[in-house]
Amino acid sequence: MSERYKDLHLQPLAGEWRQGSGEREVTVIDPYQQTELLKITLANREDLDAAYQRAQAVQPEWAAKPPAERAALMHRVVALFDERKDEIIDWLVRESGSTRVKANIEWGAARAITLEAASMPSRVHGMTLTSDIPGKENRVYRKPLGVVGVISPWNFPLHLSQRSIAPAIALGNAVVVKPASDTPVTGGLLLARLFDEAGLPNGVLSVVVGSGSEIGDAFVEHAVPSLISFTGSTPVGRRIGGICSGGEHIKQVALELGGNSPFVVLDDADVDQAVNASLAGKFLHQGQICMAINRIIVHERLYDDFVSRFVERAKTLKYGDPAAEGIVIGPIINAKQREGLEAKIAKAREEGATVLLDGEIQGQVVPPHVFGDVTPAMDISREEIFGPLVGIQKARDEAHALELANDTQYGLSSAVFSGDLDRGLRFAQGIRAGMVHVNDMPVNDEPNVPFGGEKNSGLGRFNGEWAIEEFTTDQWISVQHQARQYPF
Ligand code: NAP
Repeated sequence: MSERYKDLHLQPLAGEWRQGSGEREVTVIDPYQQTELLKITLANREDLDAAYQRAQAVQPEWAAKPPAERAALMHRVVALFDERKDEIIDWLVRESGSTRVKANIEWGAARAITLEAASMPSRVHGMTLTSDIPGKENRVYRKPLGVVGVISPWNFPLHLSQRSIAPAIALGNAVVVKPASDTPVTGGLLLARLFDEAGLPNGVLSVVVGSGSEIGDAFVEHAVPSLISFTGSTPVGRRIGGICSGGEHIKQVALELGGNSPFVVLDDADVDQAVNASLAGKFLHQGQICMAINRIIVHERLYDDFVSRFVERAKTLKYGDPAAEGIVIGPIINAKQREGLEAKIAKAREEGATVLLDGEIQGQVVPPHVFGDVTPAMDISREEIFGPLVGIQKARDEAHALELANDTQYGLSSAVFSGDLDRGLRFAQGIRAGMVHVNDMPVNDEPNVPFGGEKNSGLGRFNGEWAIEEFTTDQWISVQHQARQYPF
């Protein structure tokens, strides 16, 4: 590891790499080996306040830099993604239990959004509008929001932090990030090193390592940030949304929350291709993805065929050490999440689902579990799973499949397989979700297309022009060219 990346126990707080001033430490653990990677002294509320104040102080100067200069910085960060690829991948494997395949996908996604962000400074534009008032000219200026607070989860920490950090900074904002306690390095500290090395002025990006339950409210309530960009669970997102709209300081909020993706196989689908897609869409990162398949819904005519091929293939997936080549299913991030999965397995059995595939849990590694004859009322259908378990439901016909697909409080991603693309498209249009993929898995994210959910999956969209919209604000300035006549 290069020297620059050795002291990751320090946090960039208000322009200085230093220890947090809190009284507690967080021990960062390798979830597979269960070994300690490093200890970080947590930041406290004073550190948080200092980070926000400094961000506010330096933001105008950063926003005033020419667009080309901000773009060039993003290009340097992209170059560092390439140079430091091995170190980044290694951290993703060790800190977040990513398999090599997942770590490479995540590295690629974070790099891609950084490259997309490099194009954003020159894409921002205002407009002039007509006026009914004689002599008036209406102008609309698009400006950075100011300071953005980012809170990210542990599952795709590098990418889910960077998809807010990179556009926000490219567009002239300053950012304070609170990564998840399980992944402070890949969710913030490592990224801050890259920005630092690329030459981002001190204080434009701070990383505050602290527990959500301890400093979360203070992070969100603070008077300085104009937007809280949150990615995580629906219960925490609901709380944050409440604070942003009902607290002392009203502010914008972007919420990317939980999911319960349906994967629908219609009666004219190519079963082999559907099985290929569903294995990847279910088991990538051991199912710990917001877009991961939560429910497989198969037309009754193909049900037995699909089930037998899916189970046969799921049986062959290798699980174990994520650092080893060929491993598909690595460890669950922490004991609490693993216990939650054990409870879900027990509940599925208790509720009468047919066990089609199971296996012994080894340490933090949960082998694939597949349940058949699952009904929409079962817990495994209703709740977000976030692990390598899946239930398969049987649909009578297309209308029933759509009804089952939409029977959820969530609306993030989804997928449908059909041999007839027009039919697939029609079906997709009937799904109440922010994202639907025809003849593909629901796990998709590209830097130029809108990413986000409906219903309890959140508010707002990431990527491309949607990120420009999210991380800037409009200001109407009217110019009265001639003396206006007033009514009194
Ligand atoms: P989480 O428990 O909601 O935590 C997410 C982040 O919120 C962490 O940084 C956490 O900090 C912080 N946090 C916790 N309580 C807080 C509070 N009261 N105030 C402010 N921040 C607080 O979610 P997770 O378990 O890390 O991630 C899994 C969830 O994220 C799943 O539901 C998944 O679907 C969702 N997710 C959604 C997307 C999407 O794009 N829609 C993407 C990925 C994941 P600590 O770690 O310190 O507790």
